[in-house]
Amino acid sequence: MRKVLIVVDMQNDFVTGVLGSNEALKILPNVKKKIEQYIASGDEIIYTRDTHFDSYLDTNEGKHLPVKHCVKDTDGWQIVAEIDNVNYKHVDKHTFGYSDWNRVLTEIQFENANGDVDFIEVCPEEIEIIGVCTDICVVSNALILKALCPEAEITVDASCCAGVTPESHRAALETMKSCQINVVGE
Ligand SMILES: [Zn+2]
Repeated sequence: MRKVLIVVDMQNDFVTGVLGSNEALKILPNVKKKIEQYIASGDEIIYTRDTHFDSYLDTNEGKHLPVKHCVKDTDGWQIVAEIDNVNYKHVDKHTFGYSDWNRVLTEIQFENANGDVDFIEVCPEEIEIIGVCTDICVVSNALILKALCPEAEITVDASCCAGVTPESHRAALETMKSCQINVVGE
């Protein structure tokens, strides 16, 4: 059975940097523990990185949130060092939700039936999502993954997630529950 952990945007800028928060700092030990569990069990881990460029303030996101953050290759853009692991995939995304999950998450199987070769995209059976911000990038990716992998069990561990505010964190968890995403660790 294939199980994948997706660690959303645990980058310096969202933890200790320009958009950092006490909540994000507080979940760090839980996130570390979760990553270590996946390493120990040999399951997959994918890190996402919010990725912007010098022109950030001219983008649509920049007009709504005029705080330059996660500029590619800066310190703020790096995954927090104590939870980073270069042995696993890192996905750079330019907005809240990643639109290309099928490229990095699904496995393509080749089936020879009647002499034809079929390309079938296979989702993992289990997907767990943790990281920040619960109410922006975690919920965006959870719903995209629900659409891409409707038969997968998708779980969000609330003890490894932080929102922009505690209230928006809780509201996003409720939204995800409504969409049949398992919320644990509350
Ligand atoms: Zn951003």
